[in-house]
Amino acid sequence: MKYSELVMVFEQLESTSKRLTKTHYIADLLKKIPTENLPMIIYMLQGRLFPPTDERTLGVADKTAKKAIEIATGLPEKKVISEWKKLGDLGKVAEVLVKEKKQRTLFSHTLTVKKVFDNLRKLVEITGAGSVDRKLKLIAELLTSAKPKEAKFIIKTALEQLRFGVGEGVVRDAIVWAYFSKEIELKYDEKKHDISYNENYKKYVKAVESTYDLMNDYAGVAKKAKEKGLKGLQKTGITLGQPIRAMLALKEDTVKDCFKRVGSPAAIEYKYDGFRMIINKDGSDIKIFTRRLDNVTKQFPEVVKAIRAHVSARQCILDAEAVGFDPKTKEYKPFQNISQRIKRKYDIAMLSKKLPVELHIFDILFYKGENLLEAPFKKRRQILEKIVSSKKWSIQLAKQIVTSNEKKASEFYSKALELGHEGVMFKNLASPYQPGSRVGHMIKFKPVMEPLDLVIVAAEWGTGKRSGWLTSYVLACLDPKSGKFLTVGKASTGLKEKEEQGLSFKAMTKILRSLVRAEHGRKVDVHPQIVIEIAFNEIQKSPTYKSGYALRFPRITKIRDDRGPNECATLADVKRMYEQQKK
Ligand code: AMP
Repeated sequence: MKYSELVMVFEQLESTSKRLTKTHYIADLLKKIPTENLPMIIYMLQGRLFPPTDERTLGVADKTAKKAIEIATGLPEKKVISEWKKLGDLGKVAEVLVKEKKQRTLFSHTLTVKKVFDNLRKLVEITGAGSVDRKLKLIAELLTSAKPKEAKFIIKTALEQLRFGVGEGVVRDAIVWAYFSKEIELKYDEKKHDISYNENYKKYVKAVESTYDLMNDYAGVAKKAKEKGLKGLQKTGITLGQPIRAMLALKEDTVKDCFKRVGSPAAIEYKYDGFRMIINKDGSDIKIFTRRLDNVTKQFPEVVKAIRAHVSARQCILDAEAVGFDPKTKEYKPFQNISQRIKRKYDIAMLSKKLPVELHIFDILFYKGENLLEAPFKKRRQILEKIVSSKKWSIQLAKQIVTSNEKKASEFYSKALELGHEGVMFKNLASPYQPGSRVGHMIKFKPVMEPLDLVIVAAEWGTGKRSGWLTSYVLACLDPKSGKFLTVGKASTGLKEKEEQGLSFKAMTKILRSLVRAEHGRKVDVHPQIVIEIAFNEIQKSPTYKSGYALRFPRITKIRDDRGPNECATLADVKRMYEQQKK
């Protein structure tokens, strides 16, 4: 497939903000393309070159992209920089300058999607001495053959700045429209941007979505939908050793509402304040994944050891919360104290002694070759009770009671808070395990006006004794419809001036510095990657911020290393909290 054909779709996507129209364009494309091109195209539409579980980045600096434009167009650096200043975007610079060059030389080669994809993917593997030059060569080679529009998208992809507002929901629907249009009797009215379908639609959407929750890669899901149809999707099982999306929780504000939601009697468990671990055991082979699906096995040797010693099943997948504690005082530590262990690459043995975690297991998804996703929670818990032998400060079953009594539930909740836990979880005894969705089988109950997890999108350099640090952070929530981050406020309190006191301005500056996207005087825009937890007193309506809301007295309480930007609070969450507080 020619790259120019894909570029045409990129342009269509850029030309509209309407979700349905975007879905239509993508579905049309999916219908046409050969299966072997599917993965590349699905990734590129989402602005990446790898599946979401693969964290590798291309590591192309603006400087490298600029130089590649110079080489490919034969224009002097001065000219490229002056265009860059004028246009503010290297993608556009490439487009304009390649156009100028074409008028001079009329040289062009046909680029295929595969060639572009292969060259850009190779960038990841290049490290060490001479890597900048080799990266340059790969990008310049593509630009030399590219037409102006192609050049723009090549540069944007290389810089990882390709954004079409194509969220997971759009890809999911596009797969349904592309491969099941007959079954759902899809009719799309391009003029009115309107669609209609029959009652089968939900079934197909659910099948695609559930398959994604198990496979974590829309490229694989699309291939399956195309080749194996609905039955193939529905037959997708768990693969031991593969990451799987954790089931998410909803929230209620009273014990009564919790019971209403999950039914009674309900299982009620302590809500531990640590981070989620999905643990795969296959004989002595143990793998630990976070809820972002990162493999953190190496970072937690004490967990691997505990699972080997205290879980009798040969094969299983467990869902658990790891909570840090002080080995001397035996006090639980808040999440931020152990968050450093997630990314740690050295001194692991030392850290696992200094800041160990205790594992609280609360669910099981796979046991003895059997998929337990559809088994009722009560049965899953019984299996857990059989196979886990608890050992304090190492591995335990989540503390649980089963009751219909509101008073007992409230007492259990008070006890949980007294012991320093976050609150409790209410669980429906008959419910299946639904990876990756908030479906109401599991309800969290904790003190109201909970903090929000927000993403930093910009920052400002401090003054006076805080100069040299980025000290004020612009926060944003996610609008899942557009995939955009919408600002909700600015926080500059909560961080420490001295590093030994906790999360410091200096540490935050170091993190954000590597994410700077653009600079405007004392302000910088950063790639939306860092999620922080923000406590605040109130939400107000506000014209100042893009979300339409502003947080009053926001304070940074911790950095959420375990969360990706797509897992931060959504616009709907902010709205819901605003409405709740009005009540
Ligand atoms: P939240 O992160 O506030 O949406 O709350 C849900 C999280 O609570 C889950 O993702 C788990 O990491 C954590 N958690 C702690 N204890 C439990 C428990 N007993 N059952 C389920 N989740 C728990």
